[in-house]
Amino acid sequence: LDAAMAGVRAFNMRGVNLTMPHKINVLKHMDELSEAARLIGAVNTVVRREDGSFFGENTDGKGFVRSLRDERAAIAGKSICLLGAGGAARSIGVECALAGAKAITVVNRNADRGASLAKVIAENTAADAVFVPWAGTARIPEGTDILINATCVGLAPDSDGCPDIDFDSVRPGMTACDVVFNPVDTRFLANARARGARTIDGLGMLVNQGCINFKLWTGVEAPRDVMYAKLKAEFEQ
Ligand code: NDP
Repeated sequence: LDAAMAGVRAFNMRGVNLTMPHKINVLKHMDELSEAARLIGAVNTVVRREDGSFFGENTDGKGFVRSLRDERAAIAGKSICLLGAGGAARSIGVECALAGAKAITVVNRNADRGASLAKVIAENTAADAVFVPWAGTARIPEGTDILINATCVGLAPDSDGCPDIDFDSVRPGMTACDVVFNPVDTRFLANARARGARTIDGLGMLVNQGCINFKLWTGVEAPRDVMYAKLKAEFEQ
């Protein structure tokens, strides 16, 4: 990572996108962080400014929020149940809270990570946030409007994997979203759909974070529809 960041400077690059495990380790190279990146504690997008300084942003959650907007699914005033408390979940939790979510229930196996995310949301945004330990089969709280799988369960090659939740607690009228985009239609989404929930896959989040980054680097709108169609075709093969 150190050599790569030196390379960004040497080649005069406008910036880079990062994935795990570099999102946290790259923090030490940043000269400034966005508010979201500071709260999330991770950077997925580095922008190299005119003066050579590095600006760290996190656009995963912004991409998620935009993917719900694309599907005309409102976040403001809604109650969210967020499965997971890793990098993707932190980014989504913080951005949904900043987008006006009423309440966020964080469900996670690791109590430290889960409690830490609920605390960050409750202390820094107007949303209510609670942590519920994930022990055994998790029930989705009554009144949940949006259910989000922000764990890596179901990601290829674990394509048959499905988060251990009681799908009888998934109700018609809920919107179920997955961060996993490979496969595009996960078992989690199929099971939620079978219970009458509306579903939104992880591809929109991936494309939208890329579009936001492209604009940050170039100042030009990205060709979203071209990017979405190409990725969809790639993953459907
Ligand atoms: P992390 O390793 O940071 O977090 C993984 C999370 O999954 C943790 O909360 C972990 O729980 C939980 N988890 C793992 N296995 C299980 C299990 N068997 N049961 C319940 N919970 C489990 O990963 P990321 O947050 O970076 O990535 C998560 C997923 O999000 C990946 O599939 C990644 O591909 C996807 N992603 C999608 C993006 C998109 O644009 N669509 C963007 C970024 C990520 P615990 O803390 O208890 O260990």
